[in-house]
Amino acid sequence: MEVRPKKHLGQHFLHDEPTAQRIAEAIMLEPSGLVIEIGPGTGVLTKYLLPKIESFKAIEIDNESIAYLKIHFKNLELIEGDFLKLNLSDIIQDRTAIVGNFPYNISSQIFFKVLEHRNQVHSVVGMIQKEVAERIAEGPGTKVYGILSVLLQTYYDIEYLFTVHENVFTPPPKVKSGVIRLTRNQRSHLPCNEGLFIRIVKESFNQRRKMIRASLRKYMQHLPESRFSTERPEQLSVEDFIELCLDIEQIYNQKEISY
Ligand code: SAH
Repeated sequence: MEVRPKKHLGQHFLHDEPTAQRIAEAIMLEPSGLVIEIGPGTGVLTKYLLPKIESFKAIEIDNESIAYLKIHFKNLELIEGDFLKLNLSDIIQDRTAIVGNFPYNISSQIFFKVLEHRNQVHSVVGMIQKEVAERIAEGPGTKVYGILSVLLQTYYDIEYLFTVHENVFTPPPKVKSGVIRLTRNQRSHLPCNEGLFIRIVKESFNQRRKMIRASLRKYMQHLPESRFSTERPEQLSVEDFIELCLDIEQIYNQKEISY
């Protein structure tokens, strides 16, 4: 039985066993509870994970892949459906790890979903488009540093593990791939209002070439002396964004403005 790769599902099947093994090993380094694989496809990663991990589940959307997996992996606990739509709270446990050669068209959305469940998702190893992997892993002062980098780096330590060439996939994608690992850091909650923090990060990067005093004018008009006024968002570290958020919160409280 063959599974026809479907473009709309972001299917690029990995056929290089050493690469599959490296990805599987990267998630098994630290013992955790449940491991969830997103998009097992025909199981190139699954075959290394399933025998070694006591508590393992896979989520797959494609009917053909599901039929294939049921034949080849009799013991696999398979959840049939869309990772983005399913209620992860029903499945997830403390110290869950997430792994996969992610469908590249939804990789950012996968990471935003991880953020929502950050107190249970203890680590992620994912293969994604190389540029997105770099964006997530890079720090301030680089061109690719953006919203996802700041928000993920707030709660995770991020390592860019290795690059994967397009010719090890069927069909080959148009772009190179990168494997990254996220490991939950010590930060349990922010010292400032989290909703405000997210808005500040998003609104400043939405006009990334402008200075903070322009992109965040509605807040910064109350903070003319801020040391961040003439900075651009890509220069601000996570700690800087937290400090900026605290400054805004403080002045809003003083002036009794609501945000
Ligand atoms: N892990 C396999 C397949 C990677 S391709 C390999 O490395 O060869 C991406 C996989 O994600 C495909 O199997 C695709 O069907 C699946 N997929 C795509 N969108 C999905 C979604 N929303 N939820 C769950 N799986 C999805």
